Amino acid sequence: MSDKDYYKTLGVPKNASAEEIKKAYRELAKKYHPDVNKSPDAEERFKEISEAYAVLSDPQKREVYDQYGSAGVEGRYSYEDIFNEDLFRDIFNGFGGFEDIFDVFFGGRRRRQERKFNPRDVSASVMIDLKEAFNGAEKIIEINRKTLCQKCNGSGAESNRDIKTCPQCNGSGRVRVTQNSLFGRFTTVTTCNKCGGAGKIIEKPCSMCRGKGYTDEKKKIVVDIPPGVDEGTLLRVAGEGEFGGDLYINVHLTKNPALKRSGNDLIAEAEISFPEAALGTEIEIESIDGKITIEVPPGTQSGETIKVKGRGMPSLETKKRGDLLVKINVRTPTRLTREERELMEKLLELEGNKSSRLFGRIFR
Ligand SMILES: [Zn+2]
Ligand SMILES: [Zn+2]
Repeated sequence: MSDKDYYKTLGVPKNASAEEIKKAYRELAKKYHPDVNKSPDAEERFKEISEAYAVLSDPQKREVYDQYGSAGVEGRYSYEDIFNEDLFRDIFNGFGGFEDIFDVFFGGRRRRQERKFNPRDVSASVMIDLKEAFNGAEKIIEINRKTLCQKCNGSGAESNRDIKTCPQCNGSGRVRVTQNSLFGRFTTVTTCNKCGGAGKIIEKPCSMCRGKGYTDEKKKIVVDIPPGVDEGTLLRVAGEGEFGGDLYINVHLTKNPALKRSGNDLIAEAEISFPEAALGTEIEIESIDGKITIEVPPGTQSGETIKVKGRGMPSLETKKRGDLLVKINVRTPTRLTREERELMEKLLELEGNKSSRLFGRIFR
C-alpha cells in the first residue's frame, strides 16, 4: 500500500488550518466533480481529493495521518468511516444528487436498496412460578407483529398486472435535474419523486393491506422455557420477530411463599422449639422437588443455617444444582402450662446454680 500525500493532493501546507483545507477542497471539487468535468480521469481525481479532505478535516484522523500516513488511517478506519456522510452533506449542501456523490466514492455498491421490510426484533414477557423455573415449561405467548401481506406478498398491489413501470423515470428510479448552484449550472441525478426511487408504480393497491404490503397480526407462539431460568432471563426465539427478526422473551418469576431464590441456591426457613434446639431433632422441609428430612444437631442456635447440598435450582447453562439453605429459628414459648412453667423454673434454678458457682469461683 503506497502512502498518499493528502496535503499535496489538496495543495495545502502541512500546517494548513481547517478553514484552508475546506476552501481548497471546495475549489478542487468544483473543478473535478464528475457532473461538471467530463474528462475520463475526473472521477478518479474527485475521489482522491475527497479522501484527502475527509481525512484532513477530521482532527482525529488528521492526527493519525500525520503520525502514521494514509496506511495508518486505512488500518484504523473503514471506508465508510472515512467518507463521513455529514461531512460531505455540509460541503454539498444545496447541491442536488448528494447520494450520487456517494455513489462515486463507493462505486455504486453502497446504493441504497429499497428494502421496505427490514427484519425487526420484537420483545415480550412471560410470568412463571418457581416450580416451572425448576422443571422448565412450555408457555403460549401472544404477540403483535407486522407480517408480509399474504394476498400481495409484500408488493402492495392488487395483482401483478397492477404494477407498472414508472412513466416519469422509465423504471430507473432516478431523474436528471438541471440546477444552478455554488458550483455553477449543471445536471444532477435525483430520486424520482413519482415512484420514490422504486421505478415502479402501483395502479391498484392491494385490498387486503391497502397497499402497505404488510398486515398486523396477533400471533400465538409456543415458547419452550428451559429449566434454570431466573428473573430477568432473556430467551431468544429466532425468526419469530417482525419480517424474520427475532423474538426476545423476558422471564419474570412470581414469588414463592416458602422458598426464596439466591442465584441457584434456595433458602427456606424452619421453626423448632427450645428443647428441640437443645437436644437436636429431625425436621421435614418441603423443597422444590419434594420433602426432605433434615437432621438438626443438638445445641443449634436460632438463626443458624443448615445446608443441603445439591437440592437448589439447576444452573441454566450446566444444569448443575445449587444448594438448599435452611435457616433455623428457635421458637420462644409465649404461653406456658403449669407443668411447663415448673420445668422452666427448675431449669432456671439449675442455670442459676451453674452461674453462681462460676461467679463464686471468680471472686473467691
Ligand atoms: Zn397486500
Ligand atoms: Zn419513477
